[in-house]
Amino acid sequence: MYSTAFLDLPALASAQGTVRLPGSKSISNRVLLLAALSEGRTVVHDLLDSDDTRVMLDALQQLGCVIDRTGGTLAITGLGAHKPRSPAQLFLGNAGTAMRPLTAALAVLGGDFTLSGVARMHERPIGDLVDALRQLGCTVDYSGNEGYPPLRIGQPNLRLDAPIAVRGDVSSQFLTALLMALPLVASQDVVIDVVGELISKPYIEITLNLLARFGIRVQRDGWQRFTIPAGSRYQSPGSIYVEADASSASYFVALGAIATGQGQASIRIEGLGKDSIQGDIRFIEAAAMMGAQIDSGPNHLDIRQGAWPLKAIDLDCNHIPDAAMTLAVMALYAEGTTTLRNIASWRVKETDRIAAMACELRKLGATVVDGADFIQITPPAMASSDTSTASHWTSASIHTYDDHRIAMCFSLAAFNPARKMLRIEDPKCVAKTFPDYFEVLFSVAQAHQVPVICVDGPTASGKGTLASQVAQRLGYHYLDSGALYRLTALAAQRAGVDWDDEAALAQIAAHLPVVFEGHSVLLNEDDVSELIRSEAMGIGASKVSVFPAVRTALKHLQLSFAQLPGLVADGRDMGTVIFPTAPLKIFLTASAAQRAERRHKQLISKGISAKLDSLRSDLQERDARDSGRSAAPLKAAEDAVQLDNSALSIEQSVDIVLDAWRSRVLA
Ligand code: C5P
Repeated sequence: MYSTAFLDLPALASAQGTVRLPGSKSISNRVLLLAALSEGRTVVHDLLDSDDTRVMLDALQQLGCVIDRTGGTLAITGLGAHKPRSPAQLFLGNAGTAMRPLTAALAVLGGDFTLSGVARMHERPIGDLVDALRQLGCTVDYSGNEGYPPLRIGQPNLRLDAPIAVRGDVSSQFLTALLMALPLVASQDVVIDVVGELISKPYIEITLNLLARFGIRVQRDGWQRFTIPAGSRYQSPGSIYVEADASSASYFVALGAIATGQGQASIRIEGLGKDSIQGDIRFIEAAAMMGAQIDSGPNHLDIRQGAWPLKAIDLDCNHIPDAAMTLAVMALYAEGTTTLRNIASWRVKETDRIAAMACELRKLGATVVDGADFIQITPPAMASSDTSTASHWTSASIHTYDDHRIAMCFSLAAFNPARKMLRIEDPKCVAKTFPDYFEVLFSVAQAHQVPVICVDGPTASGKGTLASQVAQRLGYHYLDSGALYRLTALAAQRAGVDWDDEAALAQIAAHLPVVFEGHSVLLNEDDVSELIRSEAMGIGASKVSVFPAVRTALKHLQLSFAQLPGLVADGRDMGTVIFPTAPLKIFLTASAAQRAERRHKQLISKGISAKLDSLRSDLQERDARDSGRSAAPLKAAEDAVQLDNSALSIEQSVDIVLDAWRSRVLA
């Protein structure tokens, strides 16, 4: 997962391959609650592991359910006839799929409970559900603002004879919550009447489908009246599989439509077929209208590019509210204006999604009209390869409003024909439903060019510290190229090869049995991280690195580090020889006196004694050898930014590089 402040995506060119997606959030949290309310033990396979399921699991555990995990499966022993443990204070983050149904279940069961969440959760309305529960005789009080969590729940005095009215036109989660709670107290037939036109019906279908799996057969008259038969009792199905998340699949369906090109390449999504029980599966119909070519097997989808540019659509999206956000980004690649209608529920999700989508799409250059319940998008320029029109796309830093779907759908804007880079702020917000989203995207996407930041400079200038910290701040990969020369020197020494035997050294360099594991470097499975940092190996590296054959042998290995989302590489010739087209090159210097002093401190802190004078003359000798050699001598690339860090702290140097990078990304 990327927990950096932002993630800079380079312009992406194409995509192909197979992805396996995390389990559906809607199914996961319903299954967890139903299993918790059932008699018996339920083994749950392929459960989504995310923020929203984690808060649900924590809450269920607090309420007295026994949860055990083995490998990828999780088992819950339900409460059955037992009362939930009370008092309990439950924190439910920003998980609507936990807050609403738990409120209803605990309110009908009774006890002493408080339910709260993050600040945004306290702005998401729950009044319609509370009103319905109060009609039933439940005790639910607002501890903050009227109509919103946090809530306090007490003992009920249930009245089940009259039908219970609940509004269905704000969120279908209120009806879902009642449908899941009322079987707990159905000593007689319990009737629910929906007031207003029910939105997001597919989610109610998921609820009914899963209730049936747990032994509850709800009778339904259209979408207005639901009856829970007297004597209903939750019974565990023993084991249950969670389908891959159809809303998460929408990004990869869109990816297939946008990025597989006109050939044979495709994106395959495993764990989900077109007969999924999830409402968002109908996103594939909308994607097909826009031009995607989709084939479905029993448990997979294959997506290819069909029409290109995509076709603009005018669609009522009430049945696919979450996945419809992906259509809004696909609209950037369509010819004409796309209108998504009947999406008022976007206003009360993780953020006001209509306002947020409009704002961020405009940043990219799109023309957007938004209203109470619709959004209309005209792309920045025709989605053709015509660069004269494509130039209307602008680079943007996409604000993500702590909304996982905004982060995920906007990543698709990285395929823009203008080849602009794209910054996604707070990428870790995807953890709500899809913690590895970006890793999965990068496993199937190819960039026009993976961005590389080069940091070159003389020995002990602080390149390594600077480059690795910049890499960490960006979530980019890191290459310490000096380590490869040090490893060559060490491997040669171990093989009894002299440091001046060019041919034998090149052989060793070409087949270095090296593995980089986090901060450790393994040579032939031996951890040599410390060993290669010694002064002796630094001198060895400087000697073996003068040979052109050694440098050529290590070139391929260095190039292989350039992987999505990007690379920060430090050395002597990163900007001049290995990555000459890198968009940012830093040439880092510091006075010899400063460098000798730093190295001295470093060695002393490791308990290694050293003399300042001899360190300084060693450094000068190495500088001379590195700069004077004919093969890839140490020198600044013509387009390098010169940075003398003699008087700078590490943080200041990092900030200077990040500022220089920002101006390139958002150019
Ligand atoms: O950067 P570090 O001190 O680890 O590098 C050790 C030696 O490897 C340098 O003195 C230099 O001679 C050589 N080197 C090189 N090209 C690089 C990185 C290091 O020649 N890209």
